[in-house]
Amino acid sequence: MDDASGAQGGGGRTGRFPGVEWFGSAGRFIEVDESKCDGCARCVRVCLAGCFEMTGKKARVATLEECMECASCWFACERGAVSFTWPAGGTGYLSEWG
Ligand code: SF4
Ligand code: SF4
Repeated sequence: MDDASGAQGGGGRTGRFPGVEWFGSAGRFIEVDESKCDGCARCVRVCLAGCFEMTGKKARVATLEECMECASCWFACERGAVSFTWPAGGTGYLSEWG
């Protein structure tokens, strides 16, 4: 399903996950420290929102547009290269399930 037909209709941007809306002012709350990154790509594999990409042997945050703040990327990175902070305003998205 490409559209988010179950979304709340609260004025946010919808994406590939039904029932979820993102608001555009969350900021850059996840970063990769390339000096610590060993290129294992765990962050790329665990992120369901496709936020990471590999550039050569280093990961980078390509977009946080559909991030759902699960912190799996932070947890999965055994090198401590992913820094996770909460978005500006506490959250960048709303969902039907809270
Ligand atoms: S999980 Fe950590 S070490 Fe592995 S590619 Fe991602 S940022 Fe780099
Ligand atoms: S917090 Fe979750 S959704 Fe956001 S970038 Fe990390 S793994 Fe992806």
